[in-house]
Amino acid sequence: MPPRRYWLLFAFVLLVNWLVMTYLFPSGEAPVTIPYTEFRDEVARNNVVSIYSRATSIEGRFKTPVTWPPPKPAPQPGQPPAPRQRPIPGENDGPSRTAGTFTTELPAFFDRNLESFLIGHDVEISAVPLQQGGVLSTLVYGFGPALLIIGFYVWMYRRAAKGGGGGLGLGGGLFGLGRSKARRYDATDAEHRVTFDDVAGIDEAENELIEVVEFLKNPQKYTRLGGSAPKGVLLIGAPGTGKTLLARAVAGEAGVPFFSMSASEFVEMIVGVGAARVRDLFRQARENAPAIIFIDEIDGIGRARGQVALGGASEQEQTLQQILTEMDGFTGREGIIVLAATNQPDVLDRALLRPGRFDRRVVVNLPDKAGRQAILKVHVRKVPLAADVSLEELSQTTPGFSGADLKNLVNEAALLAARRDEAEVRQRDFLDALEKIVLGPERPLLLTPDDKERIAYHESGHTIMGLVVPGADPVNRVSIVPRGQALGVTYQRPQTDRYNYPEDYLRARIIGMLGGRAAEEVVYGTRTTGAENDIEQATQLARSMVTRWGMSDTIGMVQLAPRQNVFLGTGGSFMGDKPFSEQTAARVDAEVQRIIDECHEQAKRLLREHRAALDRLVRSLLAKETLSEQEILEATGLPPAPALQSRPLPHPEGGTP
Ligand code: ADP
Ligand code: MG
Ligand code: ZN
Repeated sequence: MPPRRYWLLFAFVLLVNWLVMTYLFPSGEAPVTIPYTEFRDEVARNNVVSIYSRATSIEGRFKTPVTWPPPKPAPQPGQPPAPRQRPIPGENDGPSRTAGTFTTELPAFFDRNLESFLIGHDVEISAVPLQQGGVLSTLVYGFGPALLIIGFYVWMYRRAAKGGGGGLGLGGGLFGLGRSKARRYDATDAEHRVTFDDVAGIDEAENELIEVVEFLKNPQKYTRLGGSAPKGVLLIGAPGTGKTLLARAVAGEAGVPFFSMSASEFVEMIVGVGAARVRDLFRQARENAPAIIFIDEIDGIGRARGQVALGGASEQEQTLQQILTEMDGFTGREGIIVLAATNQPDVLDRALLRPGRFDRRVVVNLPDKAGRQAILKVHVRKVPLAADVSLEELSQTTPGFSGADLKNLVNEAALLAARRDEAEVRQRDFLDALEKIVLGPERPLLLTPDDKERIAYHESGHTIMGLVVPGADPVNRVSIVPRGQALGVTYQRPQTDRYNYPEDYLRARIIGMLGGRAAEEVVYGTRTTGAENDIEQATQLARSMVTRWGMSDTIGMVQLAPRQNVFLGTGGSFMGDKPFSEQTAARVDAEVQRIIDECHEQAKRLLREHRAALDRLVRSLLAKETLSEQEILEATGLPPAPALQSRPLPHPEGGTP
């Protein structure tokens, strides 16, 4: 459900709530229930102003409020109580109340004198129930709920039609439903204008789109030699990589009208609206050509048919079909380009990807190290930085971060610095913010000194491996402050974003992962559960070495695991049967085992060798809880890890551990 529908739902719930409240629990003072005899007595005393007669009861209003049951007078011996004060079950027990209104049950016999009796005492006999006195409130109570429901629907329709029939009143709103709600951006809107300067670190995608912009500005240059214009460009990339940003930058740079709409906005509750909106969107674009149409998150409607979630399937299909029809109708001379973005290319309907539709695909990758640095630079433009801030170090420490993640990092760091009453944002703020983002907020845990020491040894084990294993990623921060699920954490920063990983480097990583448990074994001779995550990661990496990268001599260069999703870097899986035998599976297991065992032994050997440095590091860590790279080097007295001798091969294919 899109957020707007939540609003509607919310309003609806409020309405229902209001109805229930007014009908079941009418507001205002509750009347006292009095016996019929008391009622007659009050009339006789001229204390009743008006009554309303129901079938079996009478409601009414007193001149002066009455307390019922009456406060018990102190019993007078020898004097019988007045008959009307005889307790009536259910009416006279319970606490006394005073009220200006009352109800009373009529007796089963008909009191034929009642009417003249009432008139004789100037009681107004009213047709209006007590609770609903005036004409106005009668109207409100009688028609209010109906009016509200009608008003609610009108309001809903008008919301749905907003942007199309704005200001046309009820009729316009209803008929405007099929109009598109596309937002139109023009390059002249300086305040919200996004340009290619705001986009960083995704240069290839940016260049492709610059070409699209060029094309719209100067079509002859491209079509001169018979080439035809691109009709559709599909931006594909993980969430937060900057697809929407890029499209908005195109809008800011193109100098042509830019109509932007999110796919979910096409599809309303009412069938047929989506297709009408698409038609209207394309009509607007044609009238304003040259123009760009941007459909964000197109997987919302472009899902392969048959994969659609329950309900709304046909509505989505119609909408999708309309987009295809419109795009097929292009001759290429309209000067309209359709941009679309998705982070789930594999669920898109094949029909969208056919030539003549979204025939250009632009993959927006997660930024590499240089890209991350460039993106950080964009987002710190308005942040005062202390002299010690190194965007380079931050970009090294954030592999796998998207543009949105990096923006968030800058924001968190700035907030943290503000909370600490600093004038500028320091590197420490960035690293603390990073830790919070990656692992969650600090979690105060009551740990015994023994537990703490054990955790310190575990993390120090990882850290020492980062210093003494050749080629290992250097450790730039280690902490034993519990956060999220982690009791402690060691940060390693890859020296470069690598595209090709030597076997030695992978082994160095496995040794580092196993270093935590190895330290516990070397120091205490016993094990804890604290290594679960380490074991999982090490096993995966070792398995990939054997099954994907041909790094086991006994298995050889055989692909035994599917390639990862090229677009998103997520793992794939073989459908159905594994394409290898049980024997091969057993040999793979044995090889994975061998690699892990070898790395484990090596970790323990290295830790025994550097036991003194390990102990020094633990003492320092217990004292300060979090150590920076410099503090680690000082505490251990070790030099930074020696670099690997083997260099990455210049090779077109990449591996992704
Ligand atoms: P997507 O549409 O791919 O999910 P967005 O474009 O919505 O990602 O990105 C969200 C925010 O993250 C952007 O508004 C921008 O501030 C920031 N961002 C993402 N990628 C980049 C980038 N390459 N350069 C600069 N900022 C970026
Ligand atoms: Mg987006
Ligand atoms: Zn660990």
